[in-house]
Amino acid sequence: MRDKLVEFRNVSFRYSEGQPWVLNNCSFEIYENEAMAFIGHNGSGKSTIAKLMNGLLFPQEGQIMINGRQVTPESIWDIRRDVGMVFQNPDNQFVGTTVQDDVAFGMENRGLPRQEMVKRIDEVLTAVDMKDYLLTEPDKLSGGQKQRVAIAGVLAIFPQVLILDEATAMLDPKGRTEIMQTVAEIQKQRHLSLITITHDLREVVQAERVIVMNEGRIWAEAAPRDIFARRAELRDIGLDVPFVAALSDNLKQAGVPITHEALN
Ligand code: ADP
Repeated sequence: MRDKLVEFRNVSFRYSEGQPWVLNNCSFEIYENEAMAFIGHNGSGKSTIAKLMNGLLFPQEGQIMINGRQVTPESIWDIRRDVGMVFQNPDNQFVGTTVQDDVAFGMENRGLPRQEMVKRIDEVLTAVDMKDYLLTEPDKLSGGQKQRVAIAGVLAIFPQVLILDEATAMLDPKGRTEIMQTVAEIQKQRHLSLITITHDLREVVQAERVIVMNEGRIWAEAAPRDIFARRAELRDIGLDVPFVAALSDNLKQAGVPITHEALN
């Protein structure tokens, strides 16, 4: 049986009293070795869910469990050992003066031996195709390269739960596909829970399950093909239909069976 790594139990959240609830009674579970995607229109609550998962925010109602431990202000340092997160804007995530230092930072915080750090830096930078940039200053990198390094830095700490919150937004389509494939391979090797948060439906194809958010509520939770079959309804909740149409090819390539009717 697979371990349950993430659990939201009736979670509601608002940024402050008097403001509207941005999450309403959300419950879901994510297991080890599972690739899960969250999609939804801008402002539907996806990033808020990500921030709740590693204790950047705390819910006013309900409970969040990571690997059997409740996320509370007291538990966040343990929680962050298990949960790695990459955000959309890599500029906010750089701490090192070189790519190498930056990737090392998370490992230094965890007290890893130097030899192990050197080994992992090599491994993760090779995985994201950035090995030639070990000594480059992060400022000198393109947006896409920064995202690759940010992903490498998180992979280096071997999290059990990996959250990518629009983390490939700055990559071109080819780079995005490459990185998503690399991450998918690592996810399978290490039996991670991989959580991809995106408004780009193409990134959903690799997921086993998809949660569709709408106005702070879970609108649907199903396999990708069952979600895409609801094309007209997706349009009603602001998920761009051209994306869905463009998906047809990706789905075929990925070997996901889908009927022509479902895409029309
Ligand atoms: P998504 O990731 O789906 O675009 P978010 O989780 O970022 O959605 O936002 C959900 C809602 O919370 C939106 O209405 C957004 O305006 C609001 N929100 C996000 N961050 C803050 C904040 N720091 N303070 C107040 N409201 C916020």
